[in-house]
Amino acid sequence: MTAAEIADLRARRYNATVVGVRRINPDLMALRVRPDFPIHAHHPGQYCTLGLGYWEPRVIGCQVESLAPGEEQKVVRRAYSISCPILSDAGALHVVDGCPWLEFYIVLVRENPDGRVPALTPRLFALNEGDRLQMGERITGHYTLEPVKPGDTVLFLGTGTGEAPHNYMTWDLLRRGHTGRIVNACCVRYARDLGYHDTHNELMSQFPNYTYLPLTTREPGLTRKVYVQEVIASGELEERVGALHPETTHVFLCGNPKMIGVPHRDKETGSVTYPQPPGAIEVLERRGFVADVSAQKIKGNVHFEEYW
Ligand SMILES: Cc1cc2nc3c(=O)[nH]c(=O)nc-3n(C[C@H](O)[C@H](O)[C@H](O)COP(=O)(O)OP(=O)(O)OC[C@H]3O[C@@H](n4cnc5c(N)ncnc54)[C@H](O)[C@@H]3O)c2cc1C
Repeated sequence: MTAAEIADLRARRYNATVVGVRRINPDLMALRVRPDFPIHAHHPGQYCTLGLGYWEPRVIGCQVESLAPGEEQKVVRRAYSISCPILSDAGALHVVDGCPWLEFYIVLVRENPDGRVPALTPRLFALNEGDRLQMGERITGHYTLEPVKPGDTVLFLGTGTGEAPHNYMTWDLLRRGHTGRIVNACCVRYARDLGYHDTHNELMSQFPNYTYLPLTTREPGLTRKVYVQEVIASGELEERVGALHPETTHVFLCGNPKMIGVPHRDKETGSVTYPQPPGAIEVLERRGFVADVSAQKIKGNVHFEEYW
């Protein structure tokens, strides 16, 4: 494609500008995007889409892609939860009203052994401040704080960039002076993948009801791998953050489907089969919690968002 053709496609297909890139490590970034349109009303925890043309460059070191004829003129879009810096540079709670940009927390998928070659993240990671992209105007999703009552304990369990919606929900709870405990557990491979580590530590010093619990599965020097579901099952989580009572606790699970472990519920027999090895839902339901079942409109106290 010629430079003129690319310039024309960008002008016609893009509606947003990158206004900030915080590179946490080569495979992880917080990206601020300012749309040309006014940001629609939405709830913390929801998501929208980001998109880039197949004509855009990809960062090196990713699975090789071969495009079908005509595909290079298309735009690839994926869903992204809206994250939040939570605190401003001055250390006060971020002001969302009137803020012209949204923050996204994105990991580079270099290779996907399960199927399609990762199309969007290798292109997103080539972006710099001032570059243009596509942002979906619609902000949607069921994963919100709607069921939480004042005084409830709120437990966020996220893997990797699954902490994105939790950051925005945490901001909202703190902004509205939530009095219950807020526990934010983030499970990543290495400590360098904890992209909001300093912010969470600062929040703990400012808000006595806020606890941040970073968990790493591959950090050298650790004697064992620590997974979210095992930390709950072993009782270690409650030892560290206090007892969790199902009547007054809401659990939010986001990220890797294996951590979440959504069970198969047979419509005819009503039987429930949990995936193995156990995910957090099985562990929590055995402790008296109830997961949402959207098909049956059941709203429990365990809510989840799977990223794939
Ligand atoms: C509602 C929703 C919200 C999402 N929010 C985010 C977000 O805030 N941040 C984010 O990084 N991703 C998020 N995702 C995943 C995102 O939509 C893309 O799938 C991801 O960025 C990879 O895009 P890709 O085109 O490069 O690869 P794809 O072709 O989409 O490859 C998908 C494969 O990449 C792997 N993968 C996808 N997402 C992740 C991830 N987050 N961490 C580790 N491996 C992953 C899985 O193996 C998956 O099979 C979200 C997904 C959904 C459904």
